[in-house]
Amino acid sequence: METTEVGNRMSVSLTKGLAIIGAGTMGTGIAQVAAQASLPVVVVDSSLEALTRSSRTLSANVEKLAAKGLLGETRAADVTARVTFSSDMMAVEAVDFIIEAIIEDLTAKQQLLSRLAAIAGPSITIGTNTSSISVTKIAGALADPGRLIGLHFFNPVPMMSLVEVVRGERTRDATLTAAVDLARKLGKTPVEVQDAPGFVSNRLLMPMINEAIFCLTEGVANREAIDEIMRLGMAHPMGPLRLADLIGLDVCLSIMETLQRDLGDDKYRPAPLLRRLVAAGKLGRKAHEGFYDYPAE
Ligand code: NAD
Repeated sequence: METTEVGNRMSVSLTKGLAIIGAGTMGTGIAQVAAQASLPVVVVDSSLEALTRSSRTLSANVEKLAAKGLLGETRAADVTARVTFSSDMMAVEAVDFIIEAIIEDLTAKQQLLSRLAAIAGPSITIGTNTSSISVTKIAGALADPGRLIGLHFFNPVPMMSLVEVVRGERTRDATLTAAVDLARKLGKTPVEVQDAPGFVSNRLLMPMINEAIFCLTEGVANREAIDEIMRLGMAHPMGPLRLADLIGLDVCLSIMETLQRDLGDDKYRPAPLLRRLVAAGKLGRKAHEGFYDYPAE
């Protein structure tokens, strides 16, 4: 990691750009904002299908922004040209910063990150976009746990300004500085939190979504009414069931399981209907069905 002095603190060089591992909902969004911020980006995924989908989604999103005049002088083609897609993990060799955004599973993240850390130079900072798993636990798989930090982006990434920056027990100060600098470079507002299950965001949000699913199961109200109540009564931009579909029901389930297990409190038990929908592959918007249906465009 090359650093330069800015005022009385160090700033991280990002000229070689970012590698984003995981070409799903979040990886694609993070790649888009990084490319819009003029950084070179490589998106890596083990699934070729996911890479193709990610490339299509990213191009379509950037073209929509250009058509609305929201890219200023920049052409859509200039933004998309900064992003490459690869199924080869060796791509992380040539970047300044790695962001992991694969499935929400501790073992999968640990296996991937220990491999990536061995490929990338020892000075490369690694961020994990985990939405609930302990950063300290994930870092336990690395020879140098001080280089890992939680960089929790929100969905849809191009629209949401927050990045929860989660400092693990062994995260180094220089890693924190690099993560905060990167978040700002991407036009986001970093907010630092300590490493605790679900951090602040999902410790508050997910139990609300889970409770909405219990209300639906118990017949307290139908899906539209539940969503309308939270939209009109609490000024939420969308109701909890639509939001669950946007996040991905598998992601919601993993987070509730983490909260229940790691906080040791059954008040976080996932609603059985959430488990049933995930088992049926009804994962929300990305699967075209969840609490609502989303016809393929
Ligand atoms: P997703 O299911 O849309 O995408 C995950 C991608 O990871 C898939 O393309 C899959 O092929 C790939 N993948 C899985 N294992 C891999 C491996 N070992 N190597 C390379 N690629 C692999 O998931 P998502 O919604 O983008 O979530 C990704 C991460 O971001 C999760 O940790 C999640 O908790 C977190 N997150 C999600 C949201 C959200 O709203 N969806 C918000 C914030 C954070």
